[in-house]
Amino acid sequence: MSVYEIGLRLQGKSVLVVGGGSIAGRRVPRLLAAGARVLLVAPEATTTLSDYAAAGEIQWERREWRSGDGDDAWFVLAATDAPEVNAAVAAEAEARRTWCVRADDAAASDAWTLAHTEFDGVSVAVSASGDPRRAASIRDSIAAGLRTGDIDAPRSRTTRPAAGSFKGRVALVGAGPGDADLITLRGLELLRQAEVVVSDRLAPQELLDMLGEDVEIVDAAKLPYGRHTTQEQINAVMVERALEGKFVVRLKGGDGFVFGRGAEELDACLEAGVPVEVVPGLSSSIAGPAAAGVPVTERGVVHDFTVATGHVPPGPQSKVNWAALGAGHGTIVLLMAVKNRAAIAEALIAGGRAPETPVRIVENATTKNQTVRNCALADLGVTEAHHPSVIVIGDVAGRAREL
Ligand code: SAH
Repeated sequence: MSVYEIGLRLQGKSVLVVGGGSIAGRRVPRLLAAGARVLLVAPEATTTLSDYAAAGEIQWERREWRSGDGDDAWFVLAATDAPEVNAAVAAEAEARRTWCVRADDAAASDAWTLAHTEFDGVSVAVSASGDPRRAASIRDSIAAGLRTGDIDAPRSRTTRPAAGSFKGRVALVGAGPGDADLITLRGLELLRQAEVVVSDRLAPQELLDMLGEDVEIVDAAKLPYGRHTTQEQINAVMVERALEGKFVVRLKGGDGFVFGRGAEELDACLEAGVPVEVVPGLSSSIAGPAAAGVPVTERGVVHDFTVATGHVPPGPQSKVNWAALGAGHGTIVLLMAVKNRAAIAEALIAGGRAPETPVRIVENATTKNQTVRNCALADLGVTEAHHPSVIVIGDVAGRAREL
C-alpha cells in the first residue's frame, strides 16, 4: 500500500469530522492548528471537543451524520465507532471527489493521516504501509533525534540584514532546574537557532555542549569585575549583539522570572527596542521539591505555597514577612537560603510555625548529584546543606515519599 504524500494547507477551508470520540479528539487540535474550519457532526463528544465547541473554535452539530453534511468540505474525517456509518461517509465523500480518512479501516480509506511531528519549523510525516504503530515509533525516533541534535537540521542562516533594518532579537529562555532534558521544547528550539548564548552557572551545561562551533557563548559567571555590575554587563552584551543583528538566547536556570532577574533583562531589551520573547522554564522552586517526591500543594493537606528567597537574613533588610509566613499553614519553599537557614528557621518558629514541622532539603535537584535530606524545622540550622538547594518546609515534606 503506497501513498502519495502531500501537505494540505487548510487555512479557512471547511473540514467535516464525523464522530466525537477519542480519535476525533486527537485529530481536531491539529486541524485547528492548520487553520481549518471544523464542522463536527456527532450526537456525543468528548469533553475536549465540546470545550472547543463551547469556545466557538469548532461548529458542532449534535446529531447523527446525514447525507449532505460534507457538501462544503474539502476534506472529511470519518471517525465514528460504527463501521457502516464511516463507510457511508467515505462513500459519499468519494462520490463528491473529496478526500476522506476512515479512521477505522486503513485498507478501505482513500487518505491516511500520517504520524507527524514538528520541530523548529520542520514538519515530518511518516507512513509505514498502513501500519500506524510502526509509523508512530519511527516518528518518535525522528522527533527524539531532532530534539537531541542526532539528526542534523541545519538552517541556512539569513545573510546580512539590509541597511536600516535588523533581524536581531533576544529570547529569555528558562532552562529548567538542572537536568538538560527539562528545558521546554520551545526553549530547545530557540537554543538551536541561537547565534549568541548568554548563560550562567545554574543553566545545565550539557545544553551548551550541543551548540555549534560558530555560536558565541558568553558565560555570565566569567564576566570581568569592573565599573559595571555583572547584571549591567549581561544586559549590555545581550542588547549589543541583538543590535548587531544576531539572535541572542539568554539561558537561565529554572524560570527566568523567579529570582532570576528576568525582569531587568526584559526591560533592557524593551528600552533598546530589541524584539524579545520570554520562554518560561520549570522553576526549581516547584520542580526541585517534586524531584524529591514533595508536592508543594496536596488536596486536603495544604492549599497554598510561598516561594521566598533567603539571601537576606530575617531583619530590617529583608522584604519577606517571616513572622507572617511562620503564622500561616502553607508550604514554604526557600531558594538561596543555605547560608541563612538557621536564622530563617528561628524566625518562622517565632512566628508560630511548629518546631517539629517537617523540612526536606533538595540539593542539586534533578541532576545526577541530587541529594535529599530531611529534618525538623528546629534542626534546619544544624542540618547539612550546600548550594544549590531548595528547602521545602511544611506537612507535604513529611509524607515520607521516597522516590
Ligand atoms: N530562576 C531560578 C532560581 C534562581 S535563584 C529558578 O526558577 O529555579 C538560585 C537558587 O535556586 C539557588 O540558590 C537554589 O536555591 C535554587 N536552585 C536552582 N537550581 C537548583 C537545583 N538544581 N537544585 C536545588 N536548588 C536549585
